[in-house]
Amino acid sequence: AKATERGSVSFFDAAMHANAVHHLRLDAELRRALDEEQFEVHYQPIVDLASGLANSFEALVRWRHPERGMVPPDQFLPIMEETGLIVRLGHWVIEEVCRQLAVWGPAVVNVSVNISDREFWHSGLLPHVLHCLGRHGLTADRMTIEITEGVIMRRPELALRLMKDMHDAGLQLHIDDFGTGYSSLETLHRFPVEAFKIDRSFIRGVMSGDRTADLVRVIVAMGKALGLAVVAEGVETTDQLAFLQEIGCVTGQGYLFMPAVAGDAAGELVGQVLGG
Ligand code: C2E
Ligand code: CA
Ligand code: CA
Ligand code: CA
Repeated sequence: AKATERGSVSFFDAAMHANAVHHLRLDAELRRALDEEQFEVHYQPIVDLASGLANSFEALVRWRHPERGMVPPDQFLPIMEETGLIVRLGHWVIEEVCRQLAVWGPAVVNVSVNISDREFWHSGLLPHVLHCLGRHGLTADRMTIEITEGVIMRRPELALRLMKDMHDAGLQLHIDDFGTGYSSLETLHRFPVEAFKIDRSFIRGVMSGDRTADLVRVIVAMGKALGLAVVAEGVETTDQLAFLQEIGCVTGQGYLFMPAVAGDAAGELVGQVLGG
């Protein structure tokens, strides 16, 4: 028993060590990736469900790794959040989105940018956003800031102040992944937001015959009653689309219409009917 115990302890140490080494290596790689501009921003259309038209997009970052190809954000954002490197990446994304907006011109009305926990509380965020917009000759209403309810609820009073500053500066604010936290629409209504995005996990369940459909129906109705726009995330099937249209959900995103695509391709989607 003793030998097994000792064996398992040293195995545990080795695993921890391997993990720490992996983290250090990944962190170094990510720093280099920022220096060498290996990141790309892709854009997913935010679609008017009645017409299939889109003139706004959500910016989603990707890492074009020299050997491993396109790496999705869930494989590098958590460690960047842990080390704080996300602040640099976020600044780069905002700059890149402004550059792209200027290239597209006014046909693309608005781009939503995801802001993580660390980025949101960083005092440099709003000045950087305004600086980038200004440098590219863009008004603040061309950008939306997406924040999850989880981030807001960590420090609601401070969040309210920061969001008021952003709102006063002319930016739009959306609540991302709505329904995954513990706050109610009622509570979040105190915040100066234009829209709620219903988390994809709910949209996935609307045709399953359980109570999820009722839940989504209530969220959409409540958003309407509070005068807020509602965006359905992760629309993948025509059944889901029909349901959302029926309950009066106005906008959505999802693979049914288009995944996130590179900037040039995204610009060409404006004026096209998607998901038809
Ligand atoms: P999110 O903000 O909830 O973004 C939606 C995610 O769902 C994206 O994944 C998108 O590609 C994916 N998606 C869109 N439509 C569908 C669909 O119909 N079905 C399914 N299964 N998925 C769909 P992605 O691009 O991998 O991003 C994952 C998360 O990473 C995002 O979740 C967001 O939290 C974060 N993220 C992405 N880009 C950035 C960024 O530039 N900055 C920060 N801070 N976070 C980012
Ligand atoms: Ca988002
Ligand atoms: Ca989301
Ligand atoms: Ca999410």
